[in-house]
Amino acid sequence: MSAPQPAPGQLHLRRVRMMLWVAAVLMMGIGLGWAVFFFARGAWVIVAVEGAMAVLGLVVAWLTQQRRTRLAFFVMLATVYSSICAFGLVFDIPDAQVPRSTHHFILVLALAAMLVLRDESAWMRHSVVGLLFVSYVALSSTTWGIQTQYLIPHEVRISGTWVNTALAMLGLYALVHIMVTEVSESSALEVDMRKGIARDEFFLLYQAQVTHSGEVLGAEALLRWRHPKMGLVAPGDFIDMAEQTGLILPLGAWVLRNACTQLVTWAQMPELSHLSLSVNVSARQFRQSDFVGQVEAVLERTGANPRRLKLELTESMLVEDMDDIVHKMESLRALGVGCSLDDFGTGYSSLTYLKKLPLEQLKIDQSFVRDVLSDPNDAAIAHTIITLGKSLGFAVVAEGVETQGQRDFLVANDCHIFQGYLFSKPIAVPEFVAFVRRAQELQR
Ligand code: C2E
Ligand code: MG
Ligand code: MG
Repeated sequence: MSAPQPAPGQLHLRRVRMMLWVAAVLMMGIGLGWAVFFFARGAWVIVAVEGAMAVLGLVVAWLTQQRRTRLAFFVMLATVYSSICAFGLVFDIPDAQVPRSTHHFILVLALAAMLVLRDESAWMRHSVVGLLFVSYVALSSTTWGIQTQYLIPHEVRISGTWVNTALAMLGLYALVHIMVTEVSESSALEVDMRKGIARDEFFLLYQAQVTHSGEVLGAEALLRWRHPKMGLVAPGDFIDMAEQTGLILPLGAWVLRNACTQLVTWAQMPELSHLSLSVNVSARQFRQSDFVGQVEAVLERTGANPRRLKLELTESMLVEDMDDIVHKMESLRALGVGCSLDDFGTGYSSLTYLKKLPLEQLKIDQSFVRDVLSDPNDAAIAHTIITLGKSLGFAVVAEGVETQGQRDFLVANDCHIFQGYLFSKPIAVPEFVAFVRRAQELQR
């Protein structure tokens, strides 16, 4: 059997990392090359500038190796952009015979920025790319420059024009090729998802929610996709696409049905009958006018106890039509179904709205939990969320608890429900049942 091929999200990240490696090597190579060239001419200032570029290339390589992709990209962007501008304005000033050519690399940078900043805010993406294009237009249309003794000799610039333009075109070609590949991969993903739903390739894993005394209160149902070629695909690689295409509606309905069926099975096992089950609900799913009716129908059809079902909503869905959201949440509460606010602290949250929402639970996002011990700001945010949640009468759950130190910090700050790898990863039903039994034995 051939090895599974990675999901598009992972492929994208791999391509970005590969691009950063290439950029780092080029920065080191070009920086050192020009440093040697100007060393021979005794231009010490330029040797220092080019040396700095080589060192920053090394920094980009190190950051990429550490998987700090975003920071690596911004270091690369700032270094290469300022070098191109400086080079174009000092060494590569156009004259009547030879045009400027180093600035063509700005186009390569702009395409790379579009690719890497794909998931950033539109504001960030467009302003970075816009700045690059404006600089390109300015350097293409003017003869601006500062005349110094370091101007590259005419004959070197003639061949430089050919080399720079050809290399920049090669870079553009490679990046456009990557972009086209990514677009076709994502439409293939949509087709595969439709087939996957029909072929029952999706399944749920369960991650325990545990109290400070080790009691298991329940679990969160987390969706996975067993793709015939890509292997196991995590929701991060398909939920966005499912949202965009509307496939989240049949998929979400399937998750709800399965979670309720699981609750009924557990209800028949005395040691598991008290467990609650949290289900993630996406914005598009919740916005459906008959969403509450769908939940009610599933509860009736499966016979699940509504008090054991929790729906996890995210802050991002609170932006539009608050009255409708509050109304739906109240109707769900009337059915006995509780709502939890997931990833709290990462999105838009107005405290006025928070007060209005009939919530049962707040989940502190894992990005704050991760650094509670090393970052005083995250510690302060986690503390504030716990105090805020408690004072509004919500249960507060900390997500992404991975170490004993994080758990102890949370307990000291009055948070007593946790979910995270320290206790259990998301696991299949038989392992989850064994986990609950083991926890119960330890408590006795
Ligand atoms: P979420 O609802 O915030 O779920 C928590 C995520 O954190 C899960 O990722 C879980 O595996 C991960 N996690 C839990 N503990 C730890 C930890 O200690 N360390 C680390 N590094 N990660 C931890 P997962 O399963 O990949 O799900 C990602 C997101 O996909 C979920 O975030 C949720 O927003 C979405 N999702 C998952 N299943 C569904 C679903 O059925 N429907 C919808 N609409 N979204 C879903
Ligand atoms: Mg969740
Ligand atoms: Mg979360």
